[in-house]
Amino acid sequence: MKKFEYMEKHGYEQLVFFHDATTGLKGITCIHDTSLGPALGGTRLWNYDNEDDATLDVLRLARGMTYKAAAAGLNLGGGKTVLIGDPEKVKSEAYFRGLGRYVQTLNGRYITAEDVNTSTKDMDFVNMETDYVVGLKHKSGNPSPMTALGAFHGIRASLMEVFGDDTIEGRTFSVQGAGQTGDYLIGYLLEAKAKKIYFTEINEKHIEKIKKKYPEVEFVEPDDIYGLEVDVYAPCALGATMNDETIPQLKCKIVAGTANNVLDDEEKHGNMLKERNILYSPDFVINAGGLINVYHELQGYSRENAENDISKIYDRLMDIYKIAKETGKHTQEAAKLFAKERIKTISTVRANFVKR
Ligand code: NAD
Repeated sequence: MKKFEYMEKHGYEQLVFFHDATTGLKGITCIHDTSLGPALGGTRLWNYDNEDDATLDVLRLARGMTYKAAAAGLNLGGGKTVLIGDPEKVKSEAYFRGLGRYVQTLNGRYITAEDVNTSTKDMDFVNMETDYVVGLKHKSGNPSPMTALGAFHGIRASLMEVFGDDTIEGRTFSVQGAGQTGDYLIGYLLEAKAKKIYFTEINEKHIEKIKKKYPEVEFVEPDDIYGLEVDVYAPCALGATMNDETIPQLKCKIVAGTANNVLDDEEKHGNMLKERNILYSPDFVINAGGLINVYHELQGYSRENAENDISKIYDRLMDIYKIAKETGKHTQEAAKLFAKERIKTISTVRANFVKR
């Protein structure tokens, strides 16, 4: 892989490889852009087939974090760490303390957190060796309810955009995936008196959990979720569920949920939804509640302040929908323009030296 060529093309700052012989720790930290502040992004542990796959993954994920933080109105840049190893075999106190020591060497340019296959427990070990870790159990806690809360506000904004009225009462919804975020989202929608909610799941335990907790919510088979006549389809499971096969089945007016990378091909499927007159709520904007929540750890955590900031996802989406209309771009593209513009303008404001 031509790393410098890729870094130059997308404006990366730093790519750091690290290794610890005793624990077998093998990792890569990528810092994409720190124009707005220190790079923040979780540590993903994955059994990558080869180093190039791991490198490309960390590069892509770090860049995504830059846009996510920028669009969320945070003073943070984008970064990420990947660890190459089998999650069943490599984990130990020493392994994560080793990671913490490498995070500390970056001296605050990068802040880590949990991600796929790393937990708050692992981050407690990381925290023994570095100050630059968030998402700790005794601080901001589980991000999922906050991610779902952000999606709830995002759904309200999307209803406002499409119907000129953001009331949940009387509206109909379908939710794909009732894991951590889907479960909370259903709860928020019911609390706001949604008229009808359908959900789908592939995990039997989660199906039973939802049926018991919310008997009024109707289960449908996974393949039947796309064609339902509802106002809002909320993807809260996997990525790439908006694709050539699923978009033609949609009968909803809005696609807005917690899942990451919902569009299989951003350009193609962003435009397909636009042509079908279905409003797509950009994933990295509507699902930023968890990130906004951990960001508040850096300023002395207050749940009230975090929730207040999360509610601003509503206004941010309204701004993005306006940009989409003005530029004729699909909403995912408009969200990127919005994020890039914020990075550019705030960098300019900060160009003057001011003593604080
Ligand atoms: P989760 O694993 O707790 O829940 C996902 C659920 O989707 C699981 O119950 C799973 O069984 C179900 N599922 C998987 N494939 C399915 C299918 N084909 N049909 C129906 N159900 C299916 O995950 P989560 O934390 O709720 O995250 C959901 C999505 O939101 C992911 O894409 C994640 O990256 C994204 N996200 C989560 C957070 C967060 O705070 N948890 C933050 C930002 C983004």
